[in-house]
Amino acid sequence: MQLIDLSGEIFHKCPTLPNHPPAVLTEWNTHDTFREADGIKFSIASMYMSFGEHTGSHVDAPVHFDADPNALSVDQMPLEDFYTEAVCLDLSHIELKSQISVEQLEAAEKAAGVEIKRRDTVLLYMAHYDRTFGTPAFMTDFPGLTKESAEWLGAKGIVMFGVEAASPGRPGKDNFEVHLVCRDMGFTHMEGLANLDQVVGKGRFRFIGFPLKIRGGTGSPIRPVAVLDE
Ligand SMILES: [Zn+2]
Repeated sequence: MQLIDLSGEIFHKCPTLPNHPPAVLTEWNTHDTFREADGIKFSIASMYMSFGEHTGSHVDAPVHFDADPNALSVDQMPLEDFYTEAVCLDLSHIELKSQISVEQLEAAEKAAGVEIKRRDTVLLYMAHYDRTFGTPAFMTDFPGLTKESAEWLGAKGIVMFGVEAASPGRPGKDNFEVHLVCRDMGFTHMEGLANLDQVVGKGRFRFIGFPLKIRGGTGSPIRPVAVLDE
């Protein structure tokens, strides 16, 4: 068994969308500061963290994009949704800033030699992280799904899909529509994934990526992992 870490890092001032809070991580206690009790000197190191739920590798809860008061918050989502079978589609050849079509998804499924099944997690490898991370293009130039290509995924009955970018659709109309397709077809997605090149061509595998139990949370950072048989 091999565990593949599909996580992006959370760090001070890591890239976040302008409509989300910034990530602030600073020292809170360091080993330079001692406490003393009965002759024992002791130090602990800890950090202060402040960031939005939609930071780093994270999942969107239905309540994020659905104004229905009954929409699930992240703490209400079933744990089974974060422990699923998964496949990864290779879309790394698709140009930055372009829209991903249904035909391209169909071709990628065929090329992967897999069949997307009900309750799968579908990872979409666009080589976006490798092509842009560390540059301003990381937050803007990703290829994205459209209403139609998101509907194609939804019609397969998947639990969720995952992308490397901060948004599943190109900024603006496409991204709004992809979120609304998720709302209307009852699935969701993860953003900010990494290392998807390591699960391309691996067939079916186990995906694990549990969220934090944030009361009423609209999303949560996750630690996404692929479990590969050797
Ligand atoms: Zn989203």
